[in-house]
Amino acid sequence: QPELGEEDRALVEGVLARQLRPLAKAITLIESSRPDHQRRAEAVLQALLPHTGGALRLGISGVPGVGKSTFIEALGLYLIERGHRVAVLAVDPSSSVSGGSILGDKTRMERLSRDPRAFIRPSPSAGSLGGVAEKTRETMLVCEAAGFDVVIVETVGVGQSETAVANMTDMFVLLQLPNAGDDLQGIKKGIMELADLIVINKADADSAAAMRAKAQLETALHMLRPTHPDWRVPVLLVSALKREGLDRFWETVLAFRDTMQKNGALAEKRRRQALAWMWERIDAELKRRFRQHPAVRTMLPAIERDVESGRLAPVVAARRLLDASQTISQ
Ligand code: GDP
Repeated sequence: QPELGEEDRALVEGVLARQLRPLAKAITLIESSRPDHQRRAEAVLQALLPHTGGALRLGISGVPGVGKSTFIEALGLYLIERGHRVAVLAVDPSSSVSGGSILGDKTRMERLSRDPRAFIRPSPSAGSLGGVAEKTRETMLVCEAAGFDVVIVETVGVGQSETAVANMTDMFVLLQLPNAGDDLQGIKKGIMELADLIVINKADADSAAAMRAKAQLETALHMLRPTHPDWRVPVLLVSALKREGLDRFWETVLAFRDTMQKNGALAEKRRRQALAWMWERIDAELKRRFRQHPAVRTMLPAIERDVESGRLAPVVAARRLLDASQTISQ
């Protein structure tokens, strides 16, 4: 067991007592890149682990403007009215590239964010997509320990970020516009394959188009491998703005969870996700240690030049650096 200091023991107790300040502090610790903070965050996570796993983990994606914040706010309010506590997290792939944000810096989900039964946290902004996703995953666990029973993780499309979110949630929902069917090419096939549920939002704006899109998406789904053998991916019509279709949406989410729970697929998915997470961490850390290695740092500039100019075969270069680092002895 990693050791838990006095201060962090209080933090853990505060999180378990569902206090918001300790929750925010624990997340700040998780998001910090300082090595001492990371050690402390690891100990906090380990202490909280027995109290995690209780939430329904929902991933939500869609292009900018499809209505993600409107939908998540409507859903969040719908759920807290029914006694749930809802955490909303985000994986913003742009934050790691530009420092800016596709998910938007504007005040989003204003009503939901004012409600103490909801907790909204913007995307961590440091590092690679892998780093951002990892911190979001850890934050998700802390939220579960703090008693949030629905965790929504939002992202926006560059493929990899959708995969990252699908890999940390129980169910992945793709939001579409009513004209989605007209341009099926525009929907990346890989992303449609991740979806356990497709929601056509803004059905109020053009219901005929929405119906058409539904039929077209259903046809397209027939040609894809389903995410689970026992589950046919539904296409639902919703208006986030008018809060229509939320009952059906939530019923469908619960039906999915029940199906996956009964056949054991949910537990299996979470086991796989936990192991994959460990391996991702190992991959990232090995690479970091490799790059930090004094011999590698010395050799790297010249070797990179030689590879770029075609004087050295990439495989030979890789072996030389690996041997020099002795990261993995043969
Ligand atoms: P995001 O970029 O995906 O988070 O999208 P937003 O939630 O910010 O919504 C983009 C725009 O679409 C806003 O002007 C919303 O008011 C509008 N919008 C969202 N949902 C609906 C809906 O169900 N119907 C209509 N007519 N407009 C919507």
